[in-house]
Amino acid sequence: MKKISIIVPCYNEQESLPLFYEEIIKVAGEMKKEKVEFEFLFVNDGSRDKTLEVSRELAKKDKRVRYISFSRNFGKEAAMYAGLENVTGDYIAVMDADLQDPPKLLPEMYHLIIEEGYDCVGTRRVTRKGEPPIRSFFARCFYKIINKMSKVEMVDGARDYRLMTRQMVDAILSMKEYNRYSKGLFSFVGFQTKWLEYENIERVAGETKWNFWKLLMYAFDGIFAFSTVPLSIATAIGIIFCIISFIAIAVIIVKTLAFGDPVDGWPSMVCIMFFLSGIQLFCTGIVGAYLSRTYLETKKRPIYIVKETEEELKTK
Ligand code: UDP
Ligand code: MG
Repeated sequence: MKKISIIVPCYNEQESLPLFYEEIIKVAGEMKKEKVEFEFLFVNDGSRDKTLEVSRELAKKDKRVRYISFSRNFGKEAAMYAGLENVTGDYIAVMDADLQDPPKLLPEMYHLIIEEGYDCVGTRRVTRKGEPPIRSFFARCFYKIINKMSKVEMVDGARDYRLMTRQMVDAILSMKEYNRYSKGLFSFVGFQTKWLEYENIERVAGETKWNFWKLLMYAFDGIFAFSTVPLSIATAIGIIFCIISFIAIAVIIVKTLAFGDPVDGWPSMVCIMFFLSGIQLFCTGIVGAYLSRTYLETKKRPIYIVKETEEELKTK
């Protein structure tokens, strides 16, 4: 009998989690005839509401439910990693708790893997209905930029919701980096991925944890984790400015020799100084972005810290 593990990162999801559980056990019921068993792993990412209590209750009444609770909020990336490290299934899915990732796609995903030999079935939203237009615009720009800059392909609208084989999950786990950008990691490991498309669904309860600023920072994480093109841009800017300055020097020497006018142009000089210092700081910033990430990697801090798991229920 094959086992499907479902990883659900949860941060302040006390309202959504019971609704999610209702839906997922319906799907699990439908899939009984396929001879698969299920495991649900709720990763409580340091929620400040009753998410942990809800997970405990669910784990008490259903032994397929497991949970891991972090000592504080480590972020969704850490929660997914913890999930992947701790599940025992042959096929592994990551799903949001807010039902934006429809569980009813699961049987189809499973069939695609079992019958058509895919290693992974991912999902992508083809619409961004219900999202602020300005956010959609920036999201589209981001995918255009990162796909130009990085060899690893990032699919526009791809969600973290996907069903993977054990082999692929082990490949992802072999990447122990601290600054995790899963969309890139999933794509980096390769394997055959089939994309299912669906219309955007709004969350059932609670609210999104992402604001514009967080998303922007996340976008930078993606770029710095999967591309070194910004460093080349810094070099290119440097070279271009050297060439410009050589030409300018030549022009000034010729002009001075021909017309003899050495001290004219103080205002333009100040502008040039401001402009060039700006460019220099910008390039130092790019180097700094890589340096700070390297710094965090070398510390080898744990990606997450566990405070409690469902094992505790058994000993109590
Ligand atoms: N999440 C998490 N840790 C965080 C932020 C979010 O585990 O620090 C979880 C959250 O509970 C949800 C999923 O990640 O299950 C996606 O979050 P959300 O729905 O807020 O993101 P959106 O769907 O708006 O992109
Ligand atoms: Mg959501």
